[in-house]
Amino acid sequence: MNQALKIQNTLTGKKELFKPLTKGFVGMYVCGPTVYSNVHVGNVRTFMSFDMIYRYLLHLGYKVRYVRNITDAGHLTDDDSEDKISTKARLEKLEPMEIVQKYTVDFHEILKQYNLLPPSIEPTATGHIVEQIEAVQQILDAGLAYEVNGSVYFDVLKYSETKNYGILSKRIIEDAIENTRALDGQSDKKNPQDFALWKRAEPEHIQRWSSPWSDGFPGWHLECTVMSTKYLGAQFDIHGGGMDLKFPHHECEIAQAEACNNHAPVKYWMHTNMLNLNGKKMSKSTGNSILPEEIYNGNNKILSKAFSPSVTRFFMMQAHYSSVLDLSNDALLAAEKGFNRLMEAIKTLESIQTANQSSVNIEAWKQKCYDAMNDDFNTPILIAHLFEAVKFINLINDKKESISTDDKMLLKETLEAFTFDVLGLKNTSNSNDNSDKLNGVVELLIQLRKEAKENKNYALSDEIRDKLLEKGIQLKDSREGTTFTL
Ligand SMILES: [Zn+2]
Repeated sequence: MNQALKIQNTLTGKKELFKPLTKGFVGMYVCGPTVYSNVHVGNVRTFMSFDMIYRYLLHLGYKVRYVRNITDAGHLTDDDSEDKISTKARLEKLEPMEIVQKYTVDFHEILKQYNLLPPSIEPTATGHIVEQIEAVQQILDAGLAYEVNGSVYFDVLKYSETKNYGILSKRIIEDAIENTRALDGQSDKKNPQDFALWKRAEPEHIQRWSSPWSDGFPGWHLECTVMSTKYLGAQFDIHGGGMDLKFPHHECEIAQAEACNNHAPVKYWMHTNMLNLNGKKMSKSTGNSILPEEIYNGNNKILSKAFSPSVTRFFMMQAHYSSVLDLSNDALLAAEKGFNRLMEAIKTLESIQTANQSSVNIEAWKQKCYDAMNDDFNTPILIAHLFEAVKFINLINDKKESISTDDKMLLKETLEAFTFDVLGLKNTSNSNDNSDKLNGVVELLIQLRKEAKENKNYALSDEIRDKLLEKGIQLKDSREGTTFTL
């Protein structure tokens, strides 16, 4: 079987043959969340894409060390402002670590619902302050940073004399300088494009550590450099993240690692694309937003019903990770149909009769599945091939095609491996009927309650609502009608 995996490398702009630095092993780092608010559906898509990539690498037999960090300190909205966690802690009158705990638990719970595998290591910024202080010192020693008033900044112009700042984002340093806003006089930076490695903490700043320069905290970009190289080495295979992190975050990571180790840290840079909602960018301020759990409990007005995490996962896998994807009620309804058809076919396959010979070529089909995934993890093409198998299965079941016992085994093994192990969908072919039935029964009770209300039989309508609540089913009335959550 031909297993030449190709990866679209953001660094070179080319699709390249994947050759790990050490045969049989892969080191992969993905920028994790800043745990100061509930995880966004767009972020779930990013982490799900890397989960699929992780799963496929495991499926190919690689030993993978997958590192995904938790940013629990130091994430500045920009270098001259306060960091996100401290700001939130002050607003909610909580300890920063209470904020961190609350949203880390939320993050893990959501990813578990969507069937993401945990990474091999999940390091935190606050757990690596010592290493970050060492890295700042190294960059100072290399002459590529300067200290002002207890803060340390990376000197982008100095770095650009010998190295290429902009190598990843393809920004030209001169343009970057022209396009950055002028310093407002409050800043200690020599040049606007410089970025903080260490920030002196103002008296009201809660998260602070002592360092040779001041009581302060590390700049956001530094933790990823320090934690990726600590656990994966000064050079490693894959670094991923959402495309919004390409600049400045990943560009800064490269510059810091080059300053510390004098060579490029990453062989393959991978970036995932955006998730829109109803054709528009998601935004809390315009109301065009949805939480990941609202999709599976149906608790959002843009949805006509709840969609299981596997349906949402299937929907997301129908698009290539590097394409923009648009989430909508109609798209989820269509994905649900497709997902159910796939699950039904997997169930049907169990019971189909075998023949002496196959009229379908399962080996060739299997190769096509691998070819799709080997072509930069092309899940939409893979899913198209899985539906080719659905077609075979139904034709064999209708006695219009035939399959040998060996081929049936191979088909089952391959179909299940790609569906469950690689795409990470959960097998709901057994439980599906029951949840559909339950939905049907609740809808029926909602209808009866509506009729009771219309007949002014409020005692009955309230009884239906209260009895359902006792069973853990909550009804919600709104102008558009009644919805329910389990
Ligand atoms: Zn990062």
